[in-house]
Amino acid sequence: MKLNAATEMIPITWPAFSDIHPFAPVEQAQGYVELLGELEAALCRITGYDAVSLQPNAGSQGELAGLLAISRYHASRGDQERNVCLIPDSAHGTNAASAVMAGMRVVVVATDDAGNVDLVDLRNKATEHSGELAAAMVTYPSTHGVFEEGIGELSRIVHDNGGQLYVDGANLNALVGVAKPGWFGGDVSHLNLHKTFCIPHGGGGPGVGPVAARSHLAPFLPGHRFSPRDSGAADRHHR
Ligand SMILES: *Cc1c(COP(=O)(O)O)cnc(C)c1O
Repeated sequence: MKLNAATEMIPITWPAFSDIHPFAPVEQAQGYVELLGELEAALCRITGYDAVSLQPNAGSQGELAGLLAISRYHASRGDQERNVCLIPDSAHGTNAASAVMAGMRVVVVATDDAGNVDLVDLRNKATEHSGELAAAMVTYPSTHGVFEEGIGELSRIVHDNGGQLYVDGANLNALVGVAKPGWFGGDVSHLNLHKTFCIPHGGGGPGVGPVAARSHLAPFLPGHRFSPRDSGAADRHHR
């Protein structure tokens, strides 16, 4: 899953890919525009989400961007007090770190012996924090290889208590062509393309952790005000 063959990485050293200035005029970067547009469309298609930002350069950056989108969405509705993030104790360490960086308060949810999120504990904590629930973050399938059978119910509990569901998409390759996080209850996910689709990782090159979301979160995804392509994040990729 996480093997990047040298032959797959060499092309990014080609000057045509690596020498372009990030703020080159769009008319001089048409190849890039096409490449990025096709990638965004493909990622929407396999995840079931409506919009994607390719900006984050790691899964952890995608998590921060996705959680900030959730915070800003709540704030846009006058729900500033929603800052609790439910995270199972089986989660990757970056989940809790990102939630804290996004200004959220982490409440840990138990997992059972088989590695499943304990839905009774999740329901209790979601209800207890109902007025301040911002999000729950779950990895699907989990890092233990568990496809949570209760994911649909988990999503209903979180949404019924006013929260948004962040589905950590680090293990997305196990789902492609079978299920889509945007369809089984997720509102936003990051995708670790450097893990699941052989794009260089960490010390071997930048990661690629696009963040994908349903349409209500799309206006809050990262863009760049100097990039004509990104000037209206909300206009990007609705399908
Ligand atoms: C690797 C991983 C992350 C973090 O991604 P980075 O690109 O290393 O920042 C988050 N969640 C899970 C489940 C992971 O496996």
